[in-house]
Amino acid sequence: MRCYFNNAATTKVSEAVINEMLPCFSTDYGNPSSVGKTGRDAARILYTARRRIAEAIHCDEREVLFTSGGTESDVMALWGTVLASGREKKHILSTRIEHKAILSTLEAISDRKLADVTYLEPDRNGLVSAEEFTRSIRTDTILASVMYANNETGMIQPVSEIGRICRERGILFHTDAVQAVGHIPVDVCRDHIDLMSVSAHKMHGPKGVGALYIRNGIKLKPVLTGGGQERGLRAGTENVPAIAGFGKAIEIASKDMARVNEALTKKRDRIIRALIESIPGTMLNGTVSGRLPSNVNVSFEGVSGQQLLMMLDMEGIEASLGSACAAGSPEPSHVLAAMGVPGELIGSSLRFTLSAFTTDGEVDRLLTVLPSLVNKLRQ
Ligand code: PLP
Repeated sequence: MRCYFNNAATTKVSEAVINEMLPCFSTDYGNPSSVGKTGRDAARILYTARRRIAEAIHCDEREVLFTSGGTESDVMALWGTVLASGREKKHILSTRIEHKAILSTLEAISDRKLADVTYLEPDRNGLVSAEEFTRSIRTDTILASVMYANNETGMIQPVSEIGRICRERGILFHTDAVQAVGHIPVDVCRDHIDLMSVSAHKMHGPKGVGALYIRNGIKLKPVLTGGGQERGLRAGTENVPAIAGFGKAIEIASKDMARVNEALTKKRDRIIRALIESIPGTMLNGTVSGRLPSNVNVSFEGVSGQQLLMMLDMEGIEASLGSACAAGSPEPSHVLAAMGVPGELIGSSLRFTLSAFTTDGEVDRLLTVLPSLVNKLRQ
């Protein structure tokens, strides 16, 4: 039996999603921009998916733009805003705990001297503060980008408060909600969000498809230019099968959210409690409350996370070191470092992320195997 605890990296595509996608490869293969019945059928599929996404995040379907995933949505939001905002240098507010898709893009913008960027530091629990956010606003701040829930710690940021502050000051507010949408209730109106990145493969949808929510009236400059698809903001023939799957995945995630989260919270809290009780020197990164129901991130004093990860894999248990997107690189987690976790504990941290498909049997096996592996490594 393989036990999969790496759902923040990606999730299994659900059967209902696969069934929604399949006809798009055979009967409904049209190009949504084409004149003719197959084209119109494909356009209808796009419309259904757009409506399902809009319902899930509480917006109008005309405010949903399809992209190739979370990374592209992040890049489009940041570059699109900067390029649309005139010549003079501006100020952007963000945080040290963002995903690399945001951090690398902000670095590129700042390297070209198009903006100054201020990065808020999180506290020891991985939370940024709305008060510090307010103190960091400058007269030339045009954009803020603060993630909804962190991909490494699962800590949910004070997005609604930051959104309100931005709205009052006329600052555009972007949030990378890749780990939040489909997992916890997100409402772009309640949270005063102007731009929001979403990705399908974190909620049992396919890889390579996502969306950018763009609040009505907000002007972005396109980054991908060409055939004028997606209201001229994102050229390229839409990935109809993936978009159909995305729509189905978000519909199911919204419908099942309360039930799934109740079950996940029980499993998550059981794992946290059992690891802390059975393995001395185990520390939870972040707090129990205020984190995603699917996330456990722990440090095991005196143990190499890398070695532990490999030993778990040999036992059929998959987890991850901090974030999978950065896992190919040996760099220590920038998120835990920003939280002030000591270097030796960062190197001994593992992330276990659950999904609607995680079973009690998988949790039992993890809790049986992990303590003995940590003991072995400590000897
Ligand atoms: N933002 C966050 C917070 C993520 O966790 C990820 C993926 O891990 C991304 C962006 C990138 O999303 P995608 O893989 O769809 O490009």
